[in-house]
Amino acid sequence: MTKLTPMEQEQRKQANDYVHKVYALVKQRNPEEQEFLQATREIFDSLRPVFAQHPEYMENGILERLTEPDRTISFRVAWEDDKGRVRVNRGFRVQFNSDLGPYKGGLRFHPSVNNSIMKFLAFEQIFKNALTGQPIGAGKGGSDFDPKGKSDREVMRFTQSFMTELYKHIGPNTDVPAGDIGVGAREIGYMFGHYNRMFGGYQAGVFTGKDPAHGGSLGRTEATGHGLVYFVSEMLKDADLDFKDSRVVVSGSGNVSTYAMSKAMELGATVVACSDSSGYIYDERGIDLETVKRIKQVERKRIKEYTKYHPEATYVEGCAHIWEIPCDIALPCATQNELSKQSAEALVANGVKAVGEGANMPCSIEAIHHLQKNGVLFAPAKAANAGGVAVSAMEMSQNSMRLSWTTEEVDERLQDVMKTIYTNCVEAADRYGSPNNLVKGANIAGFLKVANAMVAHGIH
Ligand code: NDP
Repeated sequence: MTKLTPMEQEQRKQANDYVHKVYALVKQRNPEEQEFLQATREIFDSLRPVFAQHPEYMENGILERLTEPDRTISFRVAWEDDKGRVRVNRGFRVQFNSDLGPYKGGLRFHPSVNNSIMKFLAFEQIFKNALTGQPIGAGKGGSDFDPKGKSDREVMRFTQSFMTELYKHIGPNTDVPAGDIGVGAREIGYMFGHYNRMFGGYQAGVFTGKDPAHGGSLGRTEATGHGLVYFVSEMLKDADLDFKDSRVVVSGSGNVSTYAMSKAMELGATVVACSDSSGYIYDERGIDLETVKRIKQVERKRIKEYTKYHPEATYVEGCAHIWEIPCDIALPCATQNELSKQSAEALVANGVKAVGEGANMPCSIEAIHHLQKNGVLFAPAKAANAGGVAVSAMEMSQNSMRLSWTTEEVDERLQDVMKTIYTNCVEAADRYGSPNNLVKGANIAGFLKVANAMVAHGIH
């Protein structure tokens, strides 16, 4: 190891003091927001070497500015259920940063949605969107509304009420939402329809993730899951490994999980387990994806039903133990903090070779450290699941040009984007003294892009 000069030592000290000071401020300002604090801590830890080399970011107060959203909108969503009862939910939109383009990020409908979860997701989106290389800023939104168990008409009435308020804050050049947990083609269809009704015309570019028959991009539905597998493939390739003949465990059975499973299978892997929020299914011979899709997408039922069609499979109630199933590659694709240190220990003990985050922040910081310490290849969400928003940006381009690319064209572009993100993460990790650490690489590469734009745009 080369010895640091006194000047370098001083620069490091100043960088550490700066990061420490801003983190203390963020904590003091947001004492209750655990998820947001977790996300900022992870980013801050990666950025110390950057500040040591670039004092101009400290002088421009980049971290102080980057941890305060441009604005947070919170609103009441009143709607009527099928029995004529009035229901009230809470709606959110966090518009975090627009230095690289219009605010961009999904909407989540799930009972757990609160300010902290919205803020952590929007904050992570800053770096993810920067990594895609596309002209998009960062936002996130949603509601504590639970679409589960609601009729189509109830979902329609809720989404229309939600959009009546959100309408004021979004638009093709200001803020462009998409889907996330609990928000798929049905919900986007209703919201897009209501937006256009209020607008009094047709604004294709206000939403992404639309049905391809009505202005959406081909390949958007599959993009996050496929992109994840493309990214992990690049990482495996550098270690002389691949998906072929590997055993894969995937959590969730929603949008990201489904298409991560389909691409992994296409590349020759056997997916032995997947889950929903109630429990998981396991089949040594491989999960039948068509059955999963029918249960989750068409029938909108629980994954438990799978054993009715495939009695040879096992169903286990509860999700945590899914990571105890021996596998070569683990892809957490359900939700935040679903993979704890204990789960990481089980994965390592069973010889896992790679973990790729499909969901946002699915692994705790302690779990990531344990995996990395034990030589497991680790693909962080900001980079590995950026394929969805990258194709969303492609959808915006197609809408502006009023044309649509073929599935093959979109897929080719997606593969290019994922390869470029991977290379940029590897290079940034190398350049800032943490070779092979893709967590640091992703945080640094995303940060540099947005920080440079913030410096160029002046203090605001
Ligand atoms: P979906 O709603 O389509 O699927 C979510 C899946 O995760 C479902 O199987 C759901 O089970 C399960 N799940 C949800 N909450 C929990 C929980 N608390 N514990 C265990 N399982 C849970 O969402 P997506 O696939 O779109 O999103 C999954 C993750 O990927 C999220 O973290 C999201 O932010 C992230 N992501 C999504 C992108 C996209 O393009 N959709 C882009 C980038 C990231 P159940 O059916 O029981 O609800």
